[in-house]
Amino acid sequence: MAERGLHVLNGHEENGIEASRSSFGVRWVALGIAAIYGFLGVLWIGFSDQFVARLGLTTEQATRVQQYKGWGYVIVTAVLLYLLLRYTLRQLDQSMRALRRSRDRLESVNRLYRMVRAIKGAMLRGDNPDLLFEETCRVAVAEGGYLLAWVAMWDPDRRRLRTVAHAGAGETLVRNRVIGADELPADSPVTRALQRGKPVFDNRCRDDPILDGTDGGGGVPGYAAAAAIPIAGNGRAAGCLAVYSTRPRAFDRDEARLLVEIGEVIAAAAGRRHSGQSSSPERDRITALPTRSVLEQEAAQAVARAHRRGEHAALMVLDIDGFRRINDTLGRAAGDRILQLVSGMLSGAVQPGDVVGRLGNDEFAIVLGDLADSDRVAMAVDRIAQCFPQRVSIDDDEVFVSVSMGVAVFPADAGDAEELFACAELAQHSNPTDARGQIAYYEPVLNEHARRQRELESALRGARPDEAFHLEWQPIVEVASGRLVGAEALLRWNDPRLGNIPPDVFIPLAELSGQIIGIGHWVLAEVIRQGQAWAATGMPLSIHANVSLLQLQHDGFVGALAELLRHRTRDDWQLVIEITESQLMADSDATAQSCREIRKLGCRIDLDDFGTGYSALSYLTRLPLDGLKLDRSFVIRAERDRDMKLVVEQVIVMAQRLGLTVTAEGVETRKHLDLLRRFGCQHAQGYLFGRPQPARELEADWR
Ligand code: C2E
Ligand code: CA
Ligand code: CA
Repeated sequence: MAERGLHVLNGHEENGIEASRSSFGVRWVALGIAAIYGFLGVLWIGFSDQFVARLGLTTEQATRVQQYKGWGYVIVTAVLLYLLLRYTLRQLDQSMRALRRSRDRLESVNRLYRMVRAIKGAMLRGDNPDLLFEETCRVAVAEGGYLLAWVAMWDPDRRRLRTVAHAGAGETLVRNRVIGADELPADSPVTRALQRGKPVFDNRCRDDPILDGTDGGGGVPGYAAAAAIPIAGNGRAAGCLAVYSTRPRAFDRDEARLLVEIGEVIAAAAGRRHSGQSSSPERDRITALPTRSVLEQEAAQAVARAHRRGEHAALMVLDIDGFRRINDTLGRAAGDRILQLVSGMLSGAVQPGDVVGRLGNDEFAIVLGDLADSDRVAMAVDRIAQCFPQRVSIDDDEVFVSVSMGVAVFPADAGDAEELFACAELAQHSNPTDARGQIAYYEPVLNEHARRQRELESALRGARPDEAFHLEWQPIVEVASGRLVGAEALLRWNDPRLGNIPPDVFIPLAELSGQIIGIGHWVLAEVIRQGQAWAATGMPLSIHANVSLLQLQHDGFVGALAELLRHRTRDDWQLVIEITESQLMADSDATAQSCREIRKLGCRIDLDDFGTGYSALSYLTRLPLDGLKLDRSFVIRAERDRDMKLVVEQVIVMAQRLGLTVTAEGVETRKHLDLLRRFGCQHAQGYLFGRPQPARELEADWR
């Protein structure tokens, strides 16, 4: 469609150029005439009087000459004025005509768009081929503005052509027509199209002999152009769609192309009848949009078309931001309503010919076809992106709906429809999980990243916690005294083949696969064992363990922790559970409840990475917390920025007033430490005091 859109644009551009050219011309003509007028006036006044004076005329003669002079001046200027007006009016007329031409063009393109959309709609509704043929003819006349449209199918056994659908003027002539092979008039566009298997556009056809009335009627009057589009089947023309237009030279390149496209659509439907396939494609129950399998077919068609024409096709995969949260807080019905609203928004934003579908859950996809160049891809994507965020009301709640999307383009990113889906989905999944309204275009590095993730996932699946993992310990010290007060357990994975994988990389994967439950349980068991052992050797410490939200939300978590803690024989050491700020905010009510139960078991809860999320301090009072761990970025910014320094200081003071122990993370330099001391921060952790290290090294360093 975009290329056709391009033509429309070109129409505007041409007019724009013409308009500016004519206003340019008008200015110069006006200036020129004014200049000539001025020049003549000056000459006239300046020299004619002198000239008259030289003639030595009597006063009476001189007065008469003066009078003629005046008349002469008026006549010359009137002629000039006439020329000027004629010139500009002619220019105006020309640009009006150009404008009208492009308006007609625009209307005709719009008309054709409506037609293609209606026909594709019928196709997607799964109308059976006969209904689809009827609908095609009806739409061609009603929307496409053709005088007459009819479809006839070729019966190879009986070697005859039979009308199967028709609409418009003179349809009585084609209704129920059966024409034997030898009766087909050789010079009818229909016959030519059937014989050659190629579309025939006759822009001068005023008399198609196939329409000459067999029952005495005189044919269909008043058409000026005819087109016959073969309907392919098994590689041969299985039938023909014929349309007649009253507009002379109606079938230009764009219109011809659209008709060929319609021929392809109805051929596909006819083909399905032949092969006995169901003609009703699947529809999504909630949104009534086409499902994944239909979209895959559409994408394949768009790719084939783009390939043939040397154009582009694109696939967008869209995901509603925070949909789970909407579902959880407002309920399933509200979730369904959002899906329907988004379906409507997307359907309204696409251009005719593009196909919107639902892939499942909160995922939608759009097949964008007929994109003349890569700029068109970006324009189409932007147009859809601009619909969001949108505020919608669900019962009494207001929700801001936004989507994040991934885009892949044929042929740049993918060679076929299947690859196009894979790439667009990869791009979509590359958006950060908490992002809103992000657009990610597919990049080859994503593929590399995905390959690496798959490799890691499979290695992780094969890893047994007690063999593949171990813990390192990072000291936590008291700022005032420099004394060791605790240690944080940090998980390490050393794969024999892939080497050391950082926790930032493998923990999200373990969360995705659910393995985090087993691994996390192993960590807690190890942590408790180590806490006991250190306390027994005279190092009673606060032992910090990181727990992911998924673990916390797991039903058995509190019970399993209680079970592990039953083996605890000493209570002179403390278990501290760290939960990151962003995770705690994500699902605060349920997690707050788990936190309360954990505290009942005698553990402390610290909020990890504080300052990376958006929690207000006041919010913290509502959560059952014992401590705050200030994120590394907080400390670094406090050192650089005076305002930030004030903020950090205030946070520390307020947190302590709320009874929370504040631990600063990522303390690397003396300067950091001095700053924290001035702020009155109680605890600190960072490379300045020690890197994460094996338990034995920590003992040796700090005993
Ligand atoms: P975290 O809980 O914020 O842990 C602190 C991270 O900061 C550690 O990275 C540590 O090595 C690093 N770090 C400590 N001091 C400094 C410093 O002075 N400068 C700098 N630049 N970095 C410092 P690590 O070990 O790579 O762990 C990354 C994250 O992985 C942890 O962040 C934590 O969120 C997660 N993680 C680690 N172990 C576990 C675990 O057993 N379970 C869960 N769920 N998550 C874990
Ligand atoms: Ca931590
Ligand atoms: Ca942290």
